Amino acid sequence: MYRRHICCTSLFHHKDTKITKVVLFIVTLSPSCLCVELFFKMNWRSRGIAPSSAVMTGLYIHVPLCVAKCRYCDFYKLTPRETDGMALFLQCLEIELRRLPKDFAPDTVFIGGGTPTALSPDEYRKMLDSIDRRINLSNVVEFTSEANPGTLTPEKLAVMREGGVNRVSIGVQSFNQQALQLLGRIHDAQTAMDGYRMLRAAGFDNVNIDLIQSIPGMSPEDVLADARQVAELGPEHISFYNLIYESGTPLTKARDEGKVIPPDEDEEADNYFAVKAFLENAGYSHYETSNFSKGGKECLHNVLYWQGGEYLGCGPSAHSHWHSKRFGNIPDLEVYTNRLLKDAKPFDEVEFLTKEDKARETLVMWLRMTNGFDLDEFKGGTGFTAHELCGDSIESMIEENLLQCVENRLSLTHDALFISNAVFSELL
Ligand code: SF4
Repeated sequence: MYRRHICCTSLFHHKDTKITKVVLFIVTLSPSCLCVELFFKMNWRSRGIAPSSAVMTGLYIHVPLCVAKCRYCDFYKLTPRETDGMALFLQCLEIELRRLPKDFAPDTVFIGGGTPTALSPDEYRKMLDSIDRRINLSNVVEFTSEANPGTLTPEKLAVMREGGVNRVSIGVQSFNQQALQLLGRIHDAQTAMDGYRMLRAAGFDNVNIDLIQSIPGMSPEDVLADARQVAELGPEHISFYNLIYESGTPLTKARDEGKVIPPDEDEEADNYFAVKAFLENAGYSHYETSNFSKGGKECLHNVLYWQGGEYLGCGPSAHSHWHSKRFGNIPDLEVYTNRLLKDAKPFDEVEFLTKEDKARETLVMWLRMTNGFDLDEFKGGTGFTAHELCGDSIESMIEENLLQCVENRLSLTHDALFISNAVFSELL
């Protein structure tokens, strides 16, 4: 599913260092993060988000299946025509889950992909049974599955509910028919609304809707119409991302050939702030650069990433960050399954992070949260002051009105929200 945000690429000062590349990858892609345990624990407590006093950890599962490939998406996935089915994947996923540390007891679980709901009810049940058999789920406070509205059935949703899924993130992207066609989505607006209502009828009371803005051909009025329609549905959470043009996707090729014309950055920024104002008026809290929630229903799994929590990822292309090591599974189902069947690791390179690397990454990730972070908590958790890490940049960005320090909290200014990646790049 689509959960990325890159904004104002012309302000993106590229620094060609490994850590810069990795963190800019992280800030645009949710299944990835870093770890500063005490820091993280303190903030979860102070925000009152989670009831547990334990260090928060997450489990991510990547299901490498989609009914069809959207034209803008570069996530690793196969269509049914490209596979012999998901039986071998499910078998190997259980092997991988079995190998996770015995004391791993995540607080959040996030099943993404790909399209988890492209699995049949029976396949989905098998996946949940494996998770339940192999993972200690006693700490889980949030268990999310992504869903494509074109793949939902009451039977599948019943399997998800019975198996412990308590939050669904549904990829609507737009209610505009032309936009959906341009993106290559398998569903229309009516199917998206029917899918949302099916989720409610199945009893899900914590639902996210993903929307994309800056889709070529959509006017500012169309963008606001999407925001209005989603607010009328009233999900607990809304993710609102800018369309980005990933290398090698059909949409990028069409743009490069002049067949689609993206809106200019000023229009994108105007849309972003118009939607932000509209959703805030509708009762949503803008808690992260691209995310809105109401009723305290922030996405705990993503907050875990943004605040420097640890996680383990399973499935082809899934990333992990665990005990100062970062590694990513091979993005190839055949290689992934072969390795697991041969008792080999499903990943190659393991990157080790120094304390300073982690502190710097935590600083940048945490700035995605609109209320930023407390400077003393940062020092207590990482062992570094924010100014030790990047004092000159912080001071100059405060002067440029990109960062602000209010009551000892460092955060992005309103003006910097849409160009956050430019700020992050400067801090790395
Ligand atoms: S449904 Fe579309 S956007 Fe989501 S993972 Fe599949 S191809 Fe990508």
